[in-house]
Amino acid sequence: MVITEDYKNTHVIAKKTLALIEERGIRPTPHNYAIWFEYLQETNPDLTRAVNDLLSKNGRYSEKLGIELFKKFFTREHEGRVIQETNRLVQKSMDNVMGDLKRTTADISTYGEQLNDFAVKAGEVNGQDLERMINEIVDQTNSMSDNSSHLQHGLDSASREIAELKRRLQYVQKEAYTDSLTGIPNRKSFDALLSKEIAAAREKRSGLCLMMADIDHFKKFNDLHGHTFGDQVIKLVASTLAKGTEKNAVAARYGGEEFSVILPATDLADAVNIANDLRMAIAAKRLVERSTKKDVGKITMSFGVTTYAHPEGPTAFINRADQALYSAKKAGRNCVKHLQPSTV
Ligand code: GH3
Ligand code: MG
Ligand code: MG
Repeated sequence: MVITEDYKNTHVIAKKTLALIEERGIRPTPHNYAIWFEYLQETNPDLTRAVNDLLSKNGRYSEKLGIELFKKFFTREHEGRVIQETNRLVQKSMDNVMGDLKRTTADISTYGEQLNDFAVKAGEVNGQDLERMINEIVDQTNSMSDNSSHLQHGLDSASREIAELKRRLQYVQKEAYTDSLTGIPNRKSFDALLSKEIAAAREKRSGLCLMMADIDHFKKFNDLHGHTFGDQVIKLVASTLAKGTEKNAVAARYGGEEFSVILPATDLADAVNIANDLRMAIAAKRLVERSTKKDVGKITMSFGVTTYAHPEGPTAFINRADQALYSAKKAGRNCVKHLQPSTV
């Protein structure tokens, strides 16, 4: 969510948000408030598009949908909050252990002094005093042993707690880089990976290709068969692309019904062949509507492929792949077009 310094404007949007929520009979939960505030503020085009899409189809805004939208568009904030909370818990756990350690260290030092005292005095005292001193030392030793097992216990539970927090953090980070509908890497993941692969290609002067792919006439498909079935098709496309690019290439959901594949150490001719294989694998799928078992035919996809040109940045690289995709659409769809950097 974009934090605006313009309080007057924020106040107006806040009032509009509450009015809109009430008018549409939406429960005024923090999730719903965040979604509609962001929508009215118009600072998140993806969220605006998703909500407009829903409204234009006369889709009903359900509680479940609200949670899905929130997960999809507010993950970064969610991730930030979990990281903050995890840091706080790790700190608390460490403070507990440090407290135990300090207490035990102080006790050990007192115990050491007492042992020393005992050694010095042992040779000088009579039998009765010696027995009293031995009893004292035995008591001290038992108490030390209790302290040390308390410390051991504290260390064990702190290490368990920290391992659990680490697992939770890894899960949240993985979730933030995964597209919630398809389970493949999302746009955030794509951006990070592309920058990394561009840096590697610059350093090693190795080949790197990029593929952009878009489902053909998907708007019509949604209109004919409904958004839910459309979502199932997006999932099928994602798994087909992921399966077809198993080695070192990575397929990601770029947005909506657009996908991208990053192909490190691949030359353009090979990337074009891979794109054609993927295109055919998708066109070969028969689509069956689950509830009615009706065969609704198939879908096709258009592909644009290009190779990295040193020393360009990700934007120029993506734009060229997009231009190739545009040529594929213009050429009639269900085909692969490529662009050499020099030809642009
Ligand atoms: P083209 O062949 O030129 O790509 O035509 P198109 O209709 O696929 O292109 P356009 O970009 O106009 O429409 C894309 C459609 O994809 C519009 C939108 O409703 C749909 N869409 C985007 N994201 C999703 C999604 O997550 N689920 C579903 N079911 N549809 C989506
Ligand atoms: Mg599109
Ligand atoms: Mg399309």
